[in-house]
Amino acid sequence: MKNLKDKFPNLPERIIGLGELSYNLWWSWHPAARMLFKMVDRPAWKESIHNPVRMLREIPREMLESAANNPDFLRHYDTVLARFHNELGVKSSWFTENVTDTECLPIAYFSAEYGLHHSLPFYAGGLGFLAGDHLKECSDLGIPLTAVGFMYPEGYLRQKIRVDGWQEQIDQVLDRDAAPIERVFNKEGQQLIVKVPFIDPPVHVAVWKVSVGNVPLYLMDTDIELNDPWNRLISARLYTGDIEQRLRQEIVLGIGGREILDTLGIKHSILHLNEGHPAFALLEKIRERMEEGMNFEDAAEQVRAATVFTTHTPVPAGHDVFPFHLMDKYFSSYYPMLGLSREEFFQLGMHPENPGAGFNMTAFALRMSAYHNGVSRRHGEVARKMWQPLWPDRKEKDVPIDSITNGIHVPTWIEPKMELLFNKYLGEGWLKDHDSPDIWESVDDIPDKELWQAYIWVKIKLINFIRERARKRWVEDRPSPLNVVAGGTLLDPMTLTIGFARRFATYKRADLIFHNPERLKKLLNDRWRPLQIIFAGKAHPADDEGKRILQRIFNFADNPDFGGRIAFVENYDEQLAQYMVHGVDLWLNNPVPPMEASGTSGMKAALNGVPHLSILDGWWIEGYNGKNGWAVTGRGDESDAESIYTLIESEIIPLYYELDDNGIPHGWVKIMKEAIKNTGAAFSARRMVKEYVTKFYHEALKSVV
Ligand SMILES: *Cc1c(COP(=O)(O)O)cnc(C)c1O
Repeated sequence: MKNLKDKFPNLPERIIGLGELSYNLWWSWHPAARMLFKMVDRPAWKESIHNPVRMLREIPREMLESAANNPDFLRHYDTVLARFHNELGVKSSWFTENVTDTECLPIAYFSAEYGLHHSLPFYAGGLGFLAGDHLKECSDLGIPLTAVGFMYPEGYLRQKIRVDGWQEQIDQVLDRDAAPIERVFNKEGQQLIVKVPFIDPPVHVAVWKVSVGNVPLYLMDTDIELNDPWNRLISARLYTGDIEQRLRQEIVLGIGGREILDTLGIKHSILHLNEGHPAFALLEKIRERMEEGMNFEDAAEQVRAATVFTTHTPVPAGHDVFPFHLMDKYFSSYYPMLGLSREEFFQLGMHPENPGAGFNMTAFALRMSAYHNGVSRRHGEVARKMWQPLWPDRKEKDVPIDSITNGIHVPTWIEPKMELLFNKYLGEGWLKDHDSPDIWESVDDIPDKELWQAYIWVKIKLINFIRERARKRWVEDRPSPLNVVAGGTLLDPMTLTIGFARRFATYKRADLIFHNPERLKKLLNDRWRPLQIIFAGKAHPADDEGKRILQRIFNFADNPDFGGRIAFVENYDEQLAQYMVHGVDLWLNNPVPPMEASGTSGMKAALNGVPHLSILDGWWIEGYNGKNGWAVTGRGDESDAESIYTLIESEIIPLYYELDDNGIPHGWVKIMKEAIKNTGAAFSARRMVKEYVTKFYHEALKSVV
């Protein structure tokens, strides 16, 4: 990276590598690197909300100089930097050893969102974290991959809850210079700006880059002066409600993204589309081949053979369908270049059961890719049923949609204290081989007392974090005291704590546990064996039903009848997710089946010894083994709520509060251990990415050599 000195004028030469490290998210999944930044100055690290670029730019020169003169710091610095350069420069990897050792062009990965770190608000939920974890794991495994997405300066939304419980959004624009993103420069030394081809009036995008270990992620930003105001807003926010703007986003993502790779001279081997949003990239690949003289069929066949498509949801709103008049507006000069008539072009995105609805991005992506998958076994079945009409001559079970169950990037989601404990009992090499199930057998060797004490420490950290957020809000915004209470200031670390945090989409039924408020109240207010529940999550700005559910929960949280045992923590983001999945006692998930395609937050919790209580849907159908948590068969609100209450009353509470003389709940700890053992390998991003490679990438690569 160039001009580190301009970027960090206060950084002494001896430790200039901190600047380089701050611009590669590699630091975020290596505790020793995080520790390095923390060692510079703990309060400044906290103040920057764990964003090293901001910290290094803002702290006084003297502090940096004092670090540069501190032998302890320098020793640590040299070790971390050596490892950083060593890992990034490495030539041999799992990929070169197992797939191909000949130089291979990168796989191009396109996604509308990326959940990488809370300093980069480019995600709304699970889809984004899946993409982020995929990139990190590809870096770890040495898989050549280049990713493309959007830089959303206004992110998804910053949430604030009014005293009456209604969700409001606060406008907040990302300070691009204080985030771990770099401008990409052209030959003249200016930020690279690319014109999206074939759109009128023209849209220009500025190009940014995020380094995710060895994986570069290029981000597009339309908020630049060259663009008219409407165009500037294209990349303002994730998932705008306006259908035309959304179409324009997807044109920029697919067609603009393709153009950026070309401009940068990055040739790719195969294309992996994460959900249908970026599927227009396929049109460009076909068009380019036709420019070289191929006919449409041959070009399409070639492109198909080198394309992987992952579908992520059975929820209809998750599949974009663009009305024909809008497609005409943007594509009427495009489809002739493909040698297609208007009808032939629209056929590509037609859903056979609803041909008049418009251009369906998922149908299009499925038709134009040879490899496609759902994100859990169950979701694979659901997707085969859902998309069977695209293969009318095949039986549902023979529909060629495979499944690859999601996984989480273990180094990102493991709590550091737990990592130390695993180092001690699983052996120092556990992280390197964490997708091997055998490694995890040694979890049984961890003494109950040690696991429990480490866990309690993490739980207290969560509650302190929540209280600190509420306290800050109290001081800075002077809200009603009700906000402070509802925000979690009355939480008690000795009480059995359930966590529920995710997007407030209605199918996730965030308020199901309030189905019978009287019954819940008894549990919360039990004098000897109380229960408390921490909620967090955002409703989509256009989803009033989701906001009403959120409001209902908030109104329970500030109602004294519920004992101060319900908390709603504002602004769920990656940082809060880290604290919550590590620090609650039990992770609750109660979607309407089969709408939860996979769900990954429960994996993050289980990896850290937080068992899962969930409807049997998504990953939990594969994950539940009778010993590692609790399962409920989804049969409708009434029955599901009843089952959840009964499990909590008759199994969960008694087990949690059954302590030995030293205060250790051995029965509970047994379940914690089972949760860890069953998650670390099977639901890791490492297992997942290896599956993408062996099932899809490896095959598809054969078509491009
Ligand atoms: C993991 C994660 C999600 C996805 O969790 P689900 O269980 O799939 O809902 C959403 N938001 C954040 C912040 C996460 O970390």
